[in-house]
Amino acid sequence: MNTQPDPAKVWFVGAGPGDPDLITVKGRDLIAKADAILFAGSLVQAAATQWAPSTCVIKDSKDMTLEQITDWLIEQAGPGKTVIRLQTGDPGLYGALIEMVQRLDAAQIAVEVVPGVSSAFAAMACAVESLTLPEVTQTVILTRVEGRTPMPDGESLQELASHHTTLCLFLSITLLPTIERELKAAGWADDAPVLVVHKASWPDEQQIIRGTLADIRERCRAAKINSQAMIVVSPTLGARQWPTLKKSKLYDAGFTHRFRRAERPTSQE
Ligand code: SAH
Repeated sequence: MNTQPDPAKVWFVGAGPGDPDLITVKGRDLIAKADAILFAGSLVQAAATQWAPSTCVIKDSKDMTLEQITDWLIEQAGPGKTVIRLQTGDPGLYGALIEMVQRLDAAQIAVEVVPGVSSAFAAMACAVESLTLPEVTQTVILTRVEGRTPMPDGESLQELASHHTTLCLFLSITLLPTIERELKAAGWADDAPVLVVHKASWPDEQQIIRGTLADIRERCRAAKINSQAMIVVSPTLGARQWPTLKKSKLYDAGFTHRFRRAERPTSQE
């Protein structure tokens, strides 16, 4: 029988968008036996403090550099210890994951990642909206507007928006004038629907703002929303109210798939 403790490892855990109940079961189980947790700012504090044992060292990384963060994780890691870097939403979206992992690799500390519910999904869920709709759009682009971080070639908002798919814009709430300008340049109409959700899934703090490309800036200004917001521009927005809708083939009685045989033959697919 192997009685050796597990080798030193750091877990990167997605805490979800804010509601502590939206962390995965795996993430919560790890927190419940954690020796050390370094969490990324106020958005994930609740999950960390709610599920961790009283003996766990819990620290906020908001004033730390990337080097200080990885040094702290390396210091805490050891055989048999559960050390967690707790991040908002999913760790692989705008989370500096690889920068940290490379430093842990160099220190020969094992790494595992537990995915999380991204704010893009939480924002659409709280507004009862769908990211995709049959024959409207079947594609979602997760992106941001160029700020201090430059966008790679071919990824300007105007180019991405030219596909007229669902666009989820992170880190961009202070850049609404740019969004309006670039989407119009890509052929989106003034009255194209826009959804902004501030603190999606946060009990008592979530705010849902609906508007159009032309007026969303003014609506967000009036609601004093200038941080922690997801912006979604999509031809699917508002579909709940549409009188006619193309039905998803998955639920079409004439469509055979792996788990169900069609009730009647269908000419399509
Ligand atoms: N990894 C995170 C994103 C981190 S970048 C994720 O998967 O969601 C931070 C940006 O995410 C914010 O500027 C905002 O655009 C968005 N964000 C994070 N949490 C949010 C929430 N609860 N509600 C709305 N937007 C949120």
